[in-house]
Amino acid sequence: MLGPVIIHFGSDAQREYFLPKLLNADIQVCQGFSEPGSGSDLASLKTSAVREGDEYVVNGQKIWTSQAHYSDWVFCLVRTDANAVKKQAGISFLLIDLKTPGVTVRPIISIDGRHSLNEVFFDNVRVPATNLVGEENKGWDYAKFLLGHERAYIAGIGRNKERVACARALLQTLEGEGYPASTLAAYRSQIALIEADLHALEVTQFRMHGGHADMKLSPMLKARGSEIFQAITDLICRMTAPASLRADTGSLTKSYLYSRAVSIFGGSTEVQKNILSATVLDLS
Ligand SMILES: Cc1cc2nc3c(=O)[nH]c(=O)nc-3n(C[C@H](O)[C@H](O)[C@H](O)COP(=O)(O)OP(=O)(O)OC[C@H]3O[C@@H](n4cnc5c(N)ncnc54)[C@H](O)[C@@H]3O)c2cc1C
Repeated sequence: MLGPVIIHFGSDAQREYFLPKLLNADIQVCQGFSEPGSGSDLASLKTSAVREGDEYVVNGQKIWTSQAHYSDWVFCLVRTDANAVKKQAGISFLLIDLKTPGVTVRPIISIDGRHSLNEVFFDNVRVPATNLVGEENKGWDYAKFLLGHERAYIAGIGRNKERVACARALLQTLEGEGYPASTLAAYRSQIALIEADLHALEVTQFRMHGGHADMKLSPMLKARGSEIFQAITDLICRMTAPASLRADTGSLTKSYLYSRAVSIFGGSTEVQKNILSATVLDLS
């Protein structure tokens, strides 16, 4: 998500510092976009960054920050102009070292019992102005560029293929266990339908990203990939019921609960459809 933004809009110093480290996974970076009250309506975000000499002083709160507790840096959208006529025009894109004094990371435990989410608080955090990516108050443009890449990756072709393979293997196991032929036939046809949808999604992604990438369509990939991920996960849970329904079954139940979030993070399915209707279908 961050690499392409730095390649296209970052300074030479940012490219030199971040790109090799991102490529080698020497550093982990999390995404500080969402705030309480600013999820789908992201442009309403309030975390402020006030320029004081060579630094920005950052105050505010981010939420749902995945993996912040493992991360070294957070890339943040911050408000640098509270008086901008359009709220999108007062936002900047800032790289913040999570070890800076004044940063607090607090866990949020999700319904699957895991700790991947966090709240991140900024209390007079002093950030070198050289950590600004691109131009001040142009952060919304960079965020949209980043979200194009994020949404294409959330489509999760590889992850979906892995789940389809898992369902197929499960079908073989059930066959060996003597499940009724009619039940197996129903499962087989559901897997085939999902696999056909996935194949269509993969071809669409190749078509979009072959040659000149058109990120305008990435909301479609994200929404469809999420639907397919939820459908195949749901089917695996039904195929393995009643064991998968037990709260203590571990990974299956957790995986089902996690799958519900895929149509929310990176922008909910409803929001993806709104974007597509406005930017691609010109319906707004
Ligand atoms: C597992 C997980 C990981 C996440 N990781 C990160 C992260 O690392 N960094 C980060 O910044 N954020 C992260 N998020 C936050 C995520 O981006 C937001 O949850 C998402 O954008 C939705 O915002 P919200 O939760 O405030 O819901 P809301 O915006 O309050 O939406 C609530 C409901 O209303 C619907 N809705 C809202 N507006 C409209 C509209 N205009 N038209 C139609 N329907 C609408 C939504 O579709 C949704 O169903 C994560 C979320 C989850 C669940």
